[in-house]
Amino acid sequence: MTDPFDLPEPRDLWRYFLALSRIPRPSGREEAAARWVAEEARALGCEVERDGVGNVLVRKPAAPGRADRPGVALQAHLDMVCEKNGGTVHDFDRDPIRVVRDGDAIRAVGTTLGADDGIGVAAAMAVLASRELRHGPLEALFTVDEETGLTGASALRPGWLRARYLLNLDSEEEGELTIGCAGGLDTVATRRLALSAPPPGARALRVEVTGLRGGHSGTDIGAGRGNSLRVLAQLLDAVLARLPVRLAALEGGAKRNAIPREASAVLLVSPADEPRLATLVAAEEAAGRAALGAFDPGLAIRLHPAAAEAVLSPEDARALVGLLLAAPTGIEAMSPDIPGLVQTSTNMGVASTRGGVAEVTFLTRSSVEPSRAALAARVAAVARLAGFEPRHDAGYPGWKPEPGASLVGLVDGVHRATFGRPMVVKAIHAGLECGLIGEKHPGLEMVSLGPTVLDAHTPDERVGVASVAAFARLLGAVLEAA
Ligand SMILES: [Zn+2]
Repeated sequence: MTDPFDLPEPRDLWRYFLALSRIPRPSGREEAAARWVAEEARALGCEVERDGVGNVLVRKPAAPGRADRPGVALQAHLDMVCEKNGGTVHDFDRDPIRVVRDGDAIRAVGTTLGADDGIGVAAAMAVLASRELRHGPLEALFTVDEETGLTGASALRPGWLRARYLLNLDSEEEGELTIGCAGGLDTVATRRLALSAPPPGARALRVEVTGLRGGHSGTDIGAGRGNSLRVLAQLLDAVLARLPVRLAALEGGAKRNAIPREASAVLLVSPADEPRLATLVAAEEAAGRAALGAFDPGLAIRLHPAAAEAVLSPEDARALVGLLLAAPTGIEAMSPDIPGLVQTSTNMGVASTRGGVAEVTFLTRSSVEPSRAALAARVAAVARLAGFEPRHDAGYPGWKPEPGASLVGLVDGVHRATFGRPMVVKAIHAGLECGLIGEKHPGLEMVSLGPTVLDAHTPDERVGVASVAAFARLLGAVLEAA
């Protein structure tokens, strides 16, 4: 491990990356980084514009003789995910990231590196600084707050970019070309609960569903994993139909954008019914394990002593369990364009009965806008049938893959000519800034590319020197060919 290390090739890119790493840039607090980008670009003789939320747009004229070429915009986000190891002392609002070289890998000491998307920012800066590249009219768009809400891209002014092509520099697998993403829409369904005192003589027991793998509600939704809320609902449906138990509370899932791994419910049971409850729990655990198999082998359902101060009415309990049982969750449709890509899905992510209100949250995704709206409407319809009131947020748009678009052929052709092999063309079932940028620039062709970044969003984040060099070589060749 060397610190500081000699700059690898391409030296301009790494010089910009190290300079950027000295500037704190957590999501929502990118002002210093935005100012740095703007000042560097002005010093290079480029035209710089800022918008109200802090995005920076840089324009650089074409190289001599290239003014008639189609305009290309490079795009990267300025913010970074701030995660550190337990023992690391680091203030992300003040301290520079300590970047070190470890063989081929560049990483940080105890913190995220910010290669996501600092390498994209540095690559764009190196292109702005280059006097050798024979590119056409060039723009570089640096956005704020990608990681926590895509708010920089959402606030973009329609038509701000003049380019015909946009290269998003935020992908994390060298040799892959991303050409589509999913839009998202949150739905929160609520129902006010009628609570009453627990029946006398009943014992409170907590039934807990644990051991599921969970995962990202978009990219892992097709992996066949169990949803703890659905597993719990199946059990409660059987219990409420067979035993005179009362539901006192229900809780499950941590984030709307994660497949829920755990869920629990507090039941009030007469001591005489406890053995039958235990039998139903064991049967549901066996059924769940048989259904999930190797997709999610760790499922466990257990009963523990608990306490309860109030119980839901039987109607409220049936409504909540019915919604959790009947609402769509998981894959709705696969893509006809990209083999293996989930096109439309929803994730029943969080449920609770806190504060006298039952609340269930869904995140619906699709790369096809009308399909997303249709599935979200179905989620809302099931919620209404269960006596809940569903509310949708504004959502963000997807980016429909067009494998035959001319920019896809251009970048793939340059990759073949440069490295002797085609790119892996793919789309992701999660949000990217391209969805929002495309919505504001109809007709703009976009692709996303980048070097291989490993363990992004964790303190193990690292990027390979060789991979960055290959990425920079591809980027330069694409700009000369466009
Ligand atoms: Zn990123």
